[in-house]
Amino acid sequence: MQDFNYHTHTFRCGHAEPGSDEEYVLAAIEYGYKTLGFSDHAPYRKWPKKTIHMNWEDLDDYLTSIRDLKEKYRGIIDIKVGFESEYFPYELDERKELRDMCDYLILGQHFSDPVGSKCSYFRNNTDEEILEYAEMVCAGLDSGLFTYLAHPDVFMFKQQEFTPACERAAHMISRKAAETNTPMEMNVRGVTRGKVQFKAGEAYYYPHLPFWQIAAQYPIRAIMGIDAHAPRDLIDRQSVIDGFRELEPLGLNWIKEPII
Ligand SMILES: [Zn+2]
Ligand SMILES: [Zn+2]
Repeated sequence: MQDFNYHTHTFRCGHAEPGSDEEYVLAAIEYGYKTLGFSDHAPYRKWPKKTIHMNWEDLDDYLTSIRDLKEKYRGIIDIKVGFESEYFPYELDERKELRDMCDYLILGQHFSDPVGSKCSYFRNNTDEEILEYAEMVCAGLDSGLFTYLAHPDVFMFKQQEFTPACERAAHMISRKAAETNTPMEMNVRGVTRGKVQFKAGEAYYYPHLPFWQIAAQYPIRAIMGIDAHAPRDLIDRQSVIDGFRELEPLGLNWIKEPII
């Protein structure tokens, strides 16, 4: 079983459960992780938005807190600090600035603009919006800023059908992930949301099997990410098992060693 997780949030994003950073570390040790990466939702100077991502003013506290824990638990667990970030080409400089402050960035595209006013992918999206999502993700992967792509199939959230546009998006994203050698994440938070009825049968919103059947046609690497929004998410072994079981028939190339 993968003994590292790079996808962990903190209370600073405004939608994770209250709890200290150290409680996440203790839960990770309890599970048996050797490496724990924090990747809270990255801030924007211009767009404070407390319930979506951390505010710029919280940056120092975040980086200091995680680095202090890294020292405190040295020799017990390897702690990394990073961000889960959207990609918008018009504010690339700020993403680069953030990248230089930390150990890694993961790409998690949830919105089509930094405050989610135009379009959120956490809803039933049109085919056009799904293709726009795929284009933004591909541009993000091309930027070279990101260590891996979180929940590539998040656009299936609240969908009822894996339409031809969804298929096209899956090909675009998988092709680009292979071309840029960027691992794609099986997101365990999606597993905890449970299976739902789609027109073609029961499936998770994400990891969405029809998406991964397409991904498996490309030479991609897959990585498991918990996407913890509460310390207890890190000790939910059953959801990890269920996620791997769902994708097991595809024979994906799973990352087995820490990459950061
Ligand atoms: Zn995310
Ligand atoms: Zn996340």
